[in-house]
Amino acid sequence: MEIAVISGKGGTGKSSISAAFATLSEKVVLADCDVDAANLHILFNPSHDEELVYASGHKATINYNLCLNCGLCSNYCRFDAISFQNNKVAISETSCDGCFLCSRVCPSKAISMIRNDKSRMYSGSFRNGKMVYGRLAPGEENSGKLVSIVREKAKQIAAQSSINTIILDGPPGIGCAVISTITGVDHVLIVTEPTISGMHDLQRTVEITAKFNLKTWVLINKYDLNFEMTKQIEVYCNDLGIKTIGKLLFNPQVVEAMINCKSIVEWAPTSDVAEEIRAAYGMIVCNK
Ligand code: SF4
Ligand code: SF4
Repeated sequence: MEIAVISGKGGTGKSSISAAFATLSEKVVLADCDVDAANLHILFNPSHDEELVYASGHKATINYNLCLNCGLCSNYCRFDAISFQNNKVAISETSCDGCFLCSRVCPSKAISMIRNDKSRMYSGSFRNGKMVYGRLAPGEENSGKLVSIVREKAKQIAAQSSINTIILDGPPGIGCAVISTITGVDHVLIVTEPTISGMHDLQRTVEITAKFNLKTWVLINKYDLNFEMTKQIEVYCNDLGIKTIGKLLFNPQVVEAMINCKSIVEWAPTSDVAEEIRAAYGMIVCNK
């Protein structure tokens, strides 16, 4: 069973919920699919049994022995990645989109395209099972493809280790990395918060999960920050037949847990938040 935890926006507490799910009683495979900003490895400090180079695209590089400094490449680059620095043409590694155009127009064939090789996928063990995560290097692309590699590895490890549950911590938003995270999963949990932007981004996320016909649940984090907005979220979900399976109070112990590299169910197992998360997880697993 694959359970994806996602949110329409960052900062809703999605990764805290994923971490809590990953440390409830049964062994799991935890896959951190938030490849642009993976962070669960900081919390769980997994072993690195395997490291895979992920080649995500290309970057342009100049051979200055051939370059005429004519500036033609700079005129053609639509990503403003080429500029003159100290009267010499230079390419910004982070701005280059790898479109190849400059290498085609350069009259002296001074530009070559080299493969990006700084992104990685890691897999290993953590204290409650196995863990896989991807790290996309700054400025590198194709996050969705890296997520699909992370998921494939997680499935492979689950089968080899006879682990039934895979928890996927998805990226925020509704981009291709999110779609790659949720495609074909058994359950999607959307974590939201009672704010105007929380509501707006929840609606966008629900539209995506509906398009993919996925079993969707909603959990409202810090619901006591705005009771009126919480009510609106519940009504919205209810009208669409989506179950709100949990409402978490704001509790500073969640932050304390993170600071101490624990999930909330490890740090404060009898806290109101831990109990609510446990109940929500039970509902997903039992599909109630
Ligand atoms: S087009 Fe080629 S020769 Fe001209 S500045 Fe760019 S890299 Fe140099
Ligand atoms: S490959 Fe494309 S994006 Fe990169 S520097 Fe050349 S023209 Fe610009």
